[in-house]
Amino acid sequence: MKHATKLIQQRYAKLKSMPLKINVSYSEKEEAKSKGAFWDTDSKTWYVPKHKNYNDFIQWIDNEKFSIIAKKPFHIALNKRECWKCNEITDIVALASNNFYEFDYTNEDDDDNMTKEWLKQDYFTFFSTPEYIDKEIIDLIQERFPFYKYGYSKTINRKYWANHCQNCNALQGDFFNHNEPGGAFSPMSIEECKEITLIEVPSKYDLTLNAGTGWSGIEDMILKYCKKKEWK
Ligand SMILES: [Zn+2]
Repeated sequence: MKHATKLIQQRYAKLKSMPLKINVSYSEKEEAKSKGAFWDTDSKTWYVPKHKNYNDFIQWIDNEKFSIIAKKPFHIALNKRECWKCNEITDIVALASNNFYEFDYTNEDDDDNMTKEWLKQDYFTFFSTPEYIDKEIIDLIQERFPFYKYGYSKTINRKYWANHCQNCNALQGDFFNHNEPGGAFSPMSIEECKEITLIEVPSKYDLTLNAGTGWSGIEDMILKYCKKKEWK
């Protein structure tokens, strides 16, 4: 009995510390292991535990695909808006985090020594116009919010993961949702913060994506007044 409990505790501790998936080739596995990476048999992937410095694993992180790593726990934010086309009210979502890393230049003042690193950001943001979202996580989101689809926006002339009207399927552009004051993910008042629901995404790993970020200045108010719900 005691042994079983210990095993479960160990497994849970491992799950909790699991975070970032990395791409390690067979010939590099000893090197990755010596730096502190682990192999996850269930997901068949190498991963970096959350307490490690991600910059030590930079060679195995695909920064061409994504420029943001949002650490667990991260959230999906849910709100409503009026469809610009059919005027019906429709649900819309956005990924959100207040603990993420961005791949960016470390010393911008010194042109000869500009290097890129994963830099920690700790402000709250809703992610906008994502071009890439980790496959497992987008599958989870689409299962629950099928109106969140990869679509072409005429406004910005490219494709991204966007909300679509639940009634007429028209793309509900992120510019209006995130940049317009009072937009669904750009609240200006306590009342508007209360309209937002934050749901923790039940992911085993950190979220990797390529998206815009935005600093609102009222993040404390958003976190204090928004609704919180379980995924279930
Ligand atoms: Zn519509």
